[in-house]
Amino acid sequence: MKIQLHNTLTNRREDIDPENRGKIGFYCCGPTVYGPAHIGNFRTFLLQDVFRRVLEMEGYEVNHVRNLTDVDDKTIRQSLAEGMSLINFTEKWTKKFHADCERLNMRPPHGEPTATGHIQEQIDLIARLVDQDHAYAAQDGSVYFRIASFPNYGKLSNLDRRETQTQTTSSSGERNDADEYDRETVADFALWKAHKEEDGENAWDSPWGRGRPGWHIECSAMSIKYLGESFDIHGGGIDLCFPHHENEIAQSEAATGKVFARHWFHCAHLMVDGGKMSKSLGNLYTLEDLIQKGHTARELRYLLVSGSYRQPLNFTFEGLNAAKSALQKIDRATAKLCESGGLDSEGFRELTPRAPTGEMRFFEKSRADLCRDLNTSAALGNLFSSLKKLNANPPEEKDALIALSELATLLAALGIEPEFTASSSDSEIPEEIQKLAEERWKAKQSRDWPTADQIRNDLLEKGWKILDSKNGYDVEPK
Ligand code: AMP
Ligand code: ZN
Repeated sequence: MKIQLHNTLTNRREDIDPENRGKIGFYCCGPTVYGPAHIGNFRTFLLQDVFRRVLEMEGYEVNHVRNLTDVDDKTIRQSLAEGMSLINFTEKWTKKFHADCERLNMRPPHGEPTATGHIQEQIDLIARLVDQDHAYAAQDGSVYFRIASFPNYGKLSNLDRRETQTQTTSSSGERNDADEYDRETVADFALWKAHKEEDGENAWDSPWGRGRPGWHIECSAMSIKYLGESFDIHGGGIDLCFPHHENEIAQSEAATGKVFARHWFHCAHLMVDGGKMSKSLGNLYTLEDLIQKGHTARELRYLLVSGSYRQPLNFTFEGLNAAKSALQKIDRATAKLCESGGLDSEGFRELTPRAPTGEMRFFEKSRADLCRDLNTSAALGNLFSSLKKLNANPPEEKDALIALSELATLLAALGIEPEFTASSSDSEIPEEIQKLAEERWKAKQSRDWPTADQIRNDLLEKGWKILDSKNGYDVEPK
């Protein structure tokens, strides 16, 4: 099936049309490894993971590269504060990041290059820019990109050209060379930063003297090295659009003369309690924080991918509880379908997700939602409707097996693995509850509505819910 995605560069939904037929180059800006990634970071990384999985579901081969920013103001500052070498410090946080990714069931990228592992590539790229007058060395040995030399500057974030010309220095007259990307002024940005005392020993030799790369150049150098000067898709959180991605485009295209990434995929932010997350507000959660509160990585994954990537998502604990119930529904519905198909949980896990050749028979709507601009929220809605239909009218074994194979494919695209607990199966419903449900059914058959309603409420109070279908009913935990 054709896959479409909104492209920030053109502000349109466009087909993903790989440059090398079938193989897709997908670069994602990775974490800055100076502390644990927070759940906002993971919203972006998880949606990128789902997008890659959707491409793979549809039979594309993906070359997914996600870098590790292991040298910048924050990593240096923090490693020095903790008295650790930069490498030991960033390795510690990289390990933690990998452990979180694994718990969140993310597919590891095919390449995970580090900035410190690619200093020479960054110097080479800067040298190309200096040679072509797109960059200049300042007196202290720092090198800056000359924005005025790149007329297309601002095309991704729709910056006004006049704005870029009048603000090449900050209001105080100093060049703005901070790595932090939350500033809003437009300035000639640093490609190479001359060594300063506060950098400690973290400096490398270059044609312009000792120093270290600026933040933006690493992504250009590494994406070009692993995916080529032009590649298919570049992703990140919406905050990276300006200035980071704008700068990546400028320095890459100025150096190579070619279109850099053809498709830009930005994820809207995760909010907490309707506002921005921040350490000072105490609402900047990590996976670890949530696990300590009794939640699971599976629930967090579900919650973070359940909203469409183009809309901000508001994190609340109610939302996390709802994710838990939704997952239990999927677990139970899958277990029930397994009964119809004569599969046990092991049998279901062994089903290999397959690239569908034609239309899916039972889950085509969900699949189409995922392929059409990664509409995860609609895909989940349609997944529940399809499961409900299948559970209400259990199919014959042969059809159940087809449905299960499609379901396995779709759940793999979402990265959701059903859990088959004792309560997933009907036989685990307590006898008392089964009896009450039967009584209610009889009351309903004899049109004794008040009794039927009364029993339904009693059951709800006991934590069980009745779902009526055409030919009967189901009981499931509330
Ligand atoms: P960083 O480690 O700060 O470089 O960020 C890693 C990734 O997380 C980047 O793609 C950011 O755009 C993304 N990101 C940061 N904050 C949020 C948030 N609140 N919601 C979603 N993505 C975010
Ligand atoms: Zn980047």
